Amino acid sequence: MEATCDTCHRPTVACVCDRITKFQTTRRILILQHPQEKDAILGTAQILVASLPKAEIVIGLSWRNLGHALRTEAADPRRWAVLFPDRDAPANQVRTRAGETVDPASLQGIIVIDGTWSKAKTLWWRNPWLNKLNRLNLEPSKPSIYGSLRAEPRRAFVSTLESVTAALTLCGEPPEIEAGLARVFRTLVQRVRDAKLVPARRAPPGSRARGFPPPGRRR
Ligand SMILES: [Zn+2]
Repeated sequence: MEATCDTCHRPTVACVCDRITKFQTTRRILILQHPQEKDAILGTAQILVASLPKAEIVIGLSWRNLGHALRTEAADPRRWAVLFPDRDAPANQVRTRAGETVDPASLQGIIVIDGTWSKAKTLWWRNPWLNKLNRLNLEPSKPSIYGSLRAEPRRAFVSTLESVTAALTLCGEPPEIEAGLARVFRTLVQRVRDAKLVPARRAPPGSRARGFPPPGRRR
């Protein structure tokens, strides 16, 4: 059996714990993780938690509400936003369920669902309270650092690390956070490639168009 890092649970050849630096954020980050995503070799949630003292992962399939997921009633859901694509919404804006614009600077916390697109959809549908929160429809300015290592159905799907850090920048957190964590992520991708732990693959033909009903289409 190959050696595994005790901290990140990755094979030692793909461990990036030596590159982690801490960044303070004003905002909290809540990462909802599907149980099957836990030890994904290219997973980035663990890097976020190791780097950002205000980030935490909760593993599960459903929670009653934000307070339940955070294990505190102190959080005000109106000051939180969930990152989830919405084809009907303008890019890089936070909106209420009713479609009103929210100033990203006013947010106290960000929620992200960690996992492949199909697992993210599962968690989205199993947690109807998410659809009532403010929502941030992120439109990344560049393709994911994952490159060919992970085929996602749309260009807009980037790693959990890239979405969270882009959202933090949008909220007015120092851009060094996004840049610093992107460096760690690039190192992870490089080490996984060098160790040939994940074969590069192409998106299956037609996968861009194939569909999932646009999430959260408002009635
Ligand atoms: Zn490690």
